[in-house]
Amino acid sequence: MHCPFCNVADSKVIDSRLAAAGSQIRRRRECLSCGERFTTFESYEMVMPRVIKSNTKNEPFDEEKLRRSLMHALQKRPVTQEQIESALSDIQLQIRRLGERDVKSIVIGEIVMKALFALDHVAYVRFASVYQDFQDVEAFRRQIEQMQQHD
Ligand SMILES: [Zn+2]
Repeated sequence: MHCPFCNVADSKVIDSRLAAAGSQIRRRRECLSCGERFTTFESYEMVMPRVIKSNTKNEPFDEEKLRRSLMHALQKRPVTQEQIESALSDIQLQIRRLGERDVKSIVIGEIVMKALFALDHVAYVRFASVYQDFQDVEAFRRQIEQMQQHD
């Protein structure tokens, strides 16, 4: 990063600490050329990949849409709003971890189904049954059988 005072690229870090409740790193730097000090902030890239639909169209990731379908599947289930929010951020973290610019909606659907499966079995079945990209009926059936064995 260039020094804001003399525009030279070399600086050394003289102090480094967490900021914004640990989601940022604040670095105090000293320019090796002019000796001026400045501060930089480093944070995660929070950009979500685009979602590729089955018909090869793609659209931006829509957190609200995901929240709505989770809420729908979890209607009247014994799950708190906090658990839903935590599942939502976990799902988005997993999607970001894929490290792709474009992610197929079927991949996202699988991540969501795993999260719902861990959260509430009834919600999982509801989501899976309305989830249009779920094409492997046989795998779905096996998973339900497996789930019943664990109950
Ligand atoms: Zn400088």
